[in-house]
Amino acid sequence: MTAQLIDGKAIAAGLRARVAAEVRRLAQDHGLVPGIAVVLAGNDPASEVYVRSKTNLVAEAGMRSFDHRLPDSTSEAELLALIGRLNADPAVHGILVQLPLPAQIDARRIIEAIDPAKDVDGFHPMNAGRLTIGAPAFVPCTPRACVILAKTVRPSLAGLDAVVVGRSNVVGRPLAQLLIGESATVTVAHSKTRDLPEVCRHKDLLFAAIGRAELVKGDWIKPGAIVIDVGINRVAAADGKSRIAGDVDFAQAREVAGAITPVPGGVGPMTIACLLVNTLQAACAARGLPAPVL
Ligand code: NAP
Repeated sequence: MTAQLIDGKAIAAGLRARVAAEVRRLAQDHGLVPGIAVVLAGNDPASEVYVRSKTNLVAEAGMRSFDHRLPDSTSEAELLALIGRLNADPAVHGILVQLPLPAQIDARRIIEAIDPAKDVDGFHPMNAGRLTIGAPAFVPCTPRACVILAKTVRPSLAGLDAVVVGRSNVVGRPLAQLLIGESATVTVAHSKTRDLPEVCRHKDLLFAAIGRAELVKGDWIKPGAIVIDVGINRVAAADGKSRIAGDVDFAQAREVAGAITPVPGGVGPMTIACLLVNTLQAACAARGLPAPVL
């Protein structure tokens, strides 16, 4: 079997186009332009790449982007003061603080300082808690992207057996909550899980959010399963340069799975599209408008 390729790039482009159409409608009908503040502290090279592509796509969707580049030496108090100003700014509907932060800053304190109504990353405990109890919330972008991609293959995940490998607050945990909300039967695995291949082998849905290049092998996968690979790992390539690899051994997995996301071009582009969706929702909510149907 050769798995169906889930083309995250194309699916994300479609979602971004629908967001852009909705942004144009909001400007015309309500004079409302959604705005997102992107805060980057320090010089983490990967973060700089992410932030650049985020700001470009925000502009392409017709939204306003307010960029805040802060030096590596920024203190926690300075960053908290900036968050306070962004919370109070009516042109800013969403606030994204790029992680990781410089060592002297406690990321948890910063996240907790963001107004939950502007928390488009969905990391504030208020939104994480609301997601857990099944209440409307800003959902973290990567887990939301994973579920949307899986549902392009199986529109209903109800009753399916799912394994989420990884339990981070950014991906694994919120993804498990979303899958419970979709009525899947969910197992969450992590570094202490016994016999991970066996845990994975019988699942209809396999989500890998581990950060270990090509850990998930073909014989861990149930034939016909949907495999969503979140991992972004830089590995040495044969030509002496480097390449990006996922957490799943793609060459092996595509011979067994029913459908699979590639890396790159799978979850990554969808994650940014979901950030635009959250920002649009935040802007509508701030004006008392209904959430757009995309
Ligand atoms: P993380 O915070 O490092 O969490 C990794 C998780 O994987 C942890 O729960 C850890 O278990 C588990 N794990 C590590 N080694 C394992 C092993 N050998 N067997 C089983 N479980 C293991 O990472 P993250 O932020 O969730 O990110 C995961 C991956 O997704 C990374 O490659 C990251 O770059 C990528 N990512 C991609 C996007 C995107 O947009 N595509 C967004 C976010 C992250 P313990 O909890 O027991 O330590």
